[in-house]
Amino acid sequence: MNNDTWKYDTQAIRAGSLRSEFGENSEAIFLTSSYVFDSSAQAAARFAGTEPGNIYSRFTNPTVTMFQDRLAAMEGSEACVATSSGMSAILAIIMGLCSTGEHIVASRSIFGTTVQLFSNILKRWGLEITFVSLTNLNEWEDAIQKNTKLFFVETPSNPLTEVTDIKALSKIAHQKDIKLIVDNCFCSPALQRPLLLGADIIIHSATKYLDGQGRCLGGAVLADKKTIEPIYQFLRSAGPTMSAFNAWVFLKGLETLSVRMDAHSKNALHLASWLESQPQIDRVYYPGLASHPQHKLALTQQKTGGAIVSFEVKGGQKEAWRLIDSTRLISITANLGDVKSTITHPTTTTHSRVSPEERQKAGIKDNLVRIAVGLEDIEDLKADLSSLSP
Ligand SMILES: *Cc1c(COP(=O)(O)O)cnc(C)c1O
Repeated sequence: MNNDTWKYDTQAIRAGSLRSEFGENSEAIFLTSSYVFDSSAQAAARFAGTEPGNIYSRFTNPTVTMFQDRLAAMEGSEACVATSSGMSAILAIIMGLCSTGEHIVASRSIFGTTVQLFSNILKRWGLEITFVSLTNLNEWEDAIQKNTKLFFVETPSNPLTEVTDIKALSKIAHQKDIKLIVDNCFCSPALQRPLLLGADIIIHSATKYLDGQGRCLGGAVLADKKTIEPIYQFLRSAGPTMSAFNAWVFLKGLETLSVRMDAHSKNALHLASWLESQPQIDRVYYPGLASHPQHKLALTQQKTGGAIVSFEVKGGQKEAWRLIDSTRLISITANLGDVKSTITHPTTTTHSRVSPEERQKAGIKDNLVRIAVGLEDIEDLKADLSSLSP
């Protein structure tokens, strides 16, 4: 049921669908750990890889395959493997593509747990990591060593929504045979398609906008077939694969991704502009605002400014917490990508395990608040932040 000529919104609803003999219109959830063979000879052929087909759900599962094929079509990717979470997607890339003694250059402005994985865990396994500025491309060039294998970025970044020039960074990487990984969590393929801009690998936390309603954990890696193969080999041997149930939830999420992202973006732009006019706010970070330092670049590679708005409250942590605690509607939670708006204080939650020096270098201040703008009525959201008004 795949058709490469379908337009984006059709791919999001139809690509990858596999219909069983029962003729279901909504994709089926195949909750089965293993698959039955017609004969010993067929079992042997499947295990030998001479006959295609499912063997065991740690390797492949039809519901997971549908999700992978649909997301691949949406990102313009040749291949995709699904994982149990966004973090296991990142781990799988490193395990599949790197060996002890190799080197990764990563942006300093990335998800706090990704910093933990790189600096506290992978370093123990003999990988070298250098953190550089997301936006200063000279730092990336200078950080390259003979053993550099990967560049890792998030754009826009969490929580400051900084943007990097994917095309320019991929050129720097490709001169030295380095692969550029983009964490496309904040935009999703509905707003940004990094592979078409020159990136080599995309990771997703499906937990966020691909689900869209804050229900399940999952992740994905997208790249060409040759790059995906060793990553898949790691997943099928180590086991952080996606469950069929979660894959089904994400498949349903993909069907409405594009309309949701447009609606999230519209609310976020409205809220960001409103926040900018509030006297108690020092500064607003949102790529869709003309005041954002990379506003022009953002709009060349993203369809909109996205759904995440961060801002500095006048004062310090006390004032930031006071504002967060005054809300009654917006959920105080570190998650994002939900139709429910969420509010968080990055320095004491998502980025609390990043050292104060690293946080300072990344520009994440104690008075910073992040809102992942949901789909509630914008007037209710503004009213919920009304403690800002004098
Ligand atoms: C949440 C998140 C991750 C990690 O994903 P999990 O599904 O929670 O493992 C990675 N990158 C970004 C940008 C995220 O927001």
